[in-house]
Amino acid sequence: MSENHIKPMLPDIFTIPRDEKHPPMLLGGYCRHCNAHYFPKPRYCPRCLEPPELKEIGNAGIIHSLTVVRTKPPLGLPQPYSVGYVDLEKGSAGSGLRVFCLFDPESVDHLKIGQKVVLRVGPLGHDGRGDTRLRPYFKPVHENEEG
Ligand SMILES: [Zn+2]
Repeated sequence: MSENHIKPMLPDIFTIPRDEKHPPMLLGGYCRHCNAHYFPKPRYCPRCLEPPELKEIGNAGIIHSLTVVRTKPPLGLPQPYSVGYVDLEKGSAGSGLRVFCLFDPESVDHLKIGQKVVLRVGPLGHDGRGDTRLRPYFKPVHENEEG
């Protein structure tokens, strides 16, 4: 089955890549009034209560912390799987937010704090009723893959 037919786990969390030249991006909320980013996008800005706009907030960063979960996973996730926090890059392509996320299941035994990671989107787990869903996850960048 083509990934084009698999639905995202939730709407407005990430962009679905069209091709290699358009990598997936995390989507969050941006409040112009407060110049503040949020992930995921809240209904109202917690500072000023204006509704934030949906905005791309980044797709690369550094692992801040992580854990490996070896108990029976929810939602058809692989066993084991890893979750943690990634500090997104700042600047034009990134918000500098610290986001909670899944890591690449293939990399569970090779993840390190401080490691550079990039966002990927692919079929991972299901929706609770058995239908496969697209989920975002971060994959370590190896020096020879950068660029
Ligand atoms: Zn605000």
